[in-house]
Amino acid sequence: MNQVELIAKKRDGKELTGAELEFLVTGYVDGTIPDYQISAFLMAVYFQGMTPVETATLMRLMRDSGTVLSHDTISGVKADKHSTGGVGDKVSLILAPLVASAGLYVPMISGRALGHTGGTLDKLEAIPGFSTNLSLSALSRQLAEIGVVLVGQTEDLTPADKKIYSLRDATATVDSIPLITASILSKKMAEGIDALVLDVKCGNGAIFKEEEKAWELGRMLTSTAAEFGLKTSALITGMSQPLGNAIGNWLETREAIETLRGHGPQDLLELSLVLSAQMLVLGEKVPTLKHGYDLLLQKIDSGAAFAKFVEIVELQGGDSAVVQAPETYPPSAFQRNIVAPQDGYVTAINAREIGNISMAIGAGRAAMADKIDYTSGIVLSRKVGSKVARGDTLATAYSNDDSKLQTNMARLAAAFEYADEPPVEQPLIYGMIDATGEWRWEPVQKAFTS
Ligand code: URA
Repeated sequence: MNQVELIAKKRDGKELTGAELEFLVTGYVDGTIPDYQISAFLMAVYFQGMTPVETATLMRLMRDSGTVLSHDTISGVKADKHSTGGVGDKVSLILAPLVASAGLYVPMISGRALGHTGGTLDKLEAIPGFSTNLSLSALSRQLAEIGVVLVGQTEDLTPADKKIYSLRDATATVDSIPLITASILSKKMAEGIDALVLDVKCGNGAIFKEEEKAWELGRMLTSTAAEFGLKTSALITGMSQPLGNAIGNWLETREAIETLRGHGPQDLLELSLVLSAQMLVLGEKVPTLKHGYDLLLQKIDSGAAFAKFVEIVELQGGDSAVVQAPETYPPSAFQRNIVAPQDGYVTAINAREIGNISMAIGAGRAAMADKIDYTSGIVLSRKVGSKVARGDTLATAYSNDDSKLQTNMARLAAAFEYADEPPVEQPLIYGMIDATGEWRWEPVQKAFTS
């Protein structure tokens, strides 16, 4: 076999066999096929796509490129959630302890910030002392002990995805449905889980802007997972404005803590509850989404979900005093506000731009080696639909480098749009794909509020 012939075969729109895909994936992982040839292959996939059989094979090869965990000694259901990425998306920090407090096991393996989106690992590491770098045996021990563990991808897990994902990031091949499907499912299946809920986002802060593309990705993810016996649901959710109010690592962790204590922003609480409730449905802890939703609200109200978060922090070496009293965390040295230039309604807040500005003032990385300033970021005082009067504060930007704030304030102001009339409300949740079919959100929501 020869990689040039295989690149040409995909370039010409033909289907590759399992053996051919295996040749490419194993050759790339062991270093016999160089970056430039896999880059060309990825671009060929980007334009020509992959059949469902090719997508499933690529996923399996990537999953099996490293250790595949199994938690057979734990008799309960192991479940996880994965989001395709957004701005202000701190749901994992809320959902993992929340779902564990309701009795499912959550072995969550997460990623780092890159580009305009944040990463769960960086948000957790904003807690002094918190370690996301656990060995596989420590991961299993903690999972058995408290039912939840929040860690990063180790060298042993899906090395093929690690290598291919960095190449995709550098070759403009991220937004490919087969490549996203293989990437996400390989990582999640290597965790050794029984059930998975996917948060597939659409809007200008997401990988795909168009709702229909998000449905297409949701279909490919759920049908591929089903072939491997993984119980999976995909929720299609909105990412045209940031989720919650805080963007930036510590700012988001603090907002997640507030939400676990019952004082979070409504959109963040609602999405966290629905994704978590669907995990409980898949794990057969509850018969319906409504039962799950009500049970999880009780877990927040009783303090059980927050207590589970504190347990995680303590076992993973973090400073739980800061988590108990987040107001003691030293803030950024500098902060600046932007205000409404007119009376009216906020009609749009450009999520991608807010993510990019947050990165530019210190909260993210343009390249993996960049250092993060944990307290920098943006807190929104107004969201889409808010009525404002000229001079009202819309957002506050935080940084330890005032020159970065200065250069980005005009850009932050330009991320907001206004009109005299309120905008048409954008759904937070567009719908769901599960084993029984596709559901547009309105009837589902009616079912669980009535
Ligand atoms: N998230 C992933 O883990 N992989 C992708 O390809 C896209 C989003």
